[in-house]
Amino acid sequence: MPAARHPHLIERLPQVRGRLAAEAPIGPFTWFRVGGPAEVLFRPADEVDLASFLAALDPAVPVTVIGAGSNLIVRDRGVPGVVVRLARGFGAIAVEPDGVIAGAAALDVTVAETAAEAGLDGLAFLSGIPGSVGGAVAMNAGAYGNEVKDVLDWAEIVTRDGQRVRLDAVALAFAYRSARLPPGAIVTRARLRARPGDRATIAAEMARIRSAREATQPTRARTGGSTFKNPEDAKAWELIDAAGCRGLARGRAQVSEKHCNFLLNLGGATAADIEGLGEEVRRRVHAATGVTLEWEIRRIGIPAGGLTGVAP
Ligand code: FAD
Repeated sequence: MPAARHPHLIERLPQVRGRLAAEAPIGPFTWFRVGGPAEVLFRPADEVDLASFLAALDPAVPVTVIGAGSNLIVRDRGVPGVVVRLARGFGAIAVEPDGVIAGAAALDVTVAETAAEAGLDGLAFLSGIPGSVGGAVAMNAGAYGNEVKDVLDWAEIVTRDGQRVRLDAVALAFAYRSARLPPGAIVTRARLRARPGDRATIAAEMARIRSAREATQPTRARTGGSTFKNPEDAKAWELIDAAGCRGLARGRAQVSEKHCNFLLNLGGATAADIEGLGEEVRRRVHAATGVTLEWEIRRIGIPAGGLTGVAP
């Protein structure tokens, strides 16, 4: 007797206007360019499509959202359930006299540039953060003394059961590189405050940010930005350096020589190489300094079994 056919998840999903794809590679959407496929990748057409899909989706199916993939490791065996990626339909930016309303898929740099062109000051810090607005809200992204929490008026989310809700900054309980979103919630839009300013001054500030980054970070590499959060009263990179991890390698993954809180895919690394290297750094930092580093990079999906050895 032939074995009973096990239907793929995609065959029992609600109808959508956007796009559904089975076993879709998602590593290419991330800066590290590693990792296995999404069991199903969903690109909703718009907020209504997303909300009605989630309302009709079996609550037992896990849902994971990815943004621009600039703070993300997708593990090698892929991500079970539905991975949502917001794209067209979520990228609009509306300029108001004292702020911007940006779709979650808009890139932070585009928001910063749009605000600057409109003569709005206060969002230049976003110009150096290579993520999307959704990721910036979820991570409370920040740089040079400014964070999303300082400028956010509200964020609109779709909850896992398909409700559309507007939350203010207090409800989001922002903390260092985190926001308290309801489990499974997806940010769809946010309003960021700004104030009228001088275009030339804002442009100069953005140019200063760009050159400061070029000088200190591997901005063109396959990386996930800062790997670990800065512990209270310490800099993660200093602890990593003190533990002798600058340049440490595992497989084709390496701790950046230029900024040692950045991990690099030198080309051909697996997610296990990168995550394993991060764990080795944590172990060595703890042994050398007694401090346990906390991951800032989010890791999603199922790891490949086993880790490769650390290069000498
Ligand atoms: P992703 O990396 O795709 O996802 C990160 C997390 O956000 C995941 O948990 C994901 O589920 C969640 N998420 C994404 N979109 C949504 C959404 N729509 N709704 C709900 N949750 C969502 N970060 C800083 O804060 N400051 C910096 O100065 C900085 N510099 C960086 C420099 C480089 C070269 C790189 C590669 C990264 C840097 N980062 C920095 C990290 C990263 O850019 C930020 O964390 C960014 O906010 C992540 O956004 P993303 O869209 O890429 O999110």
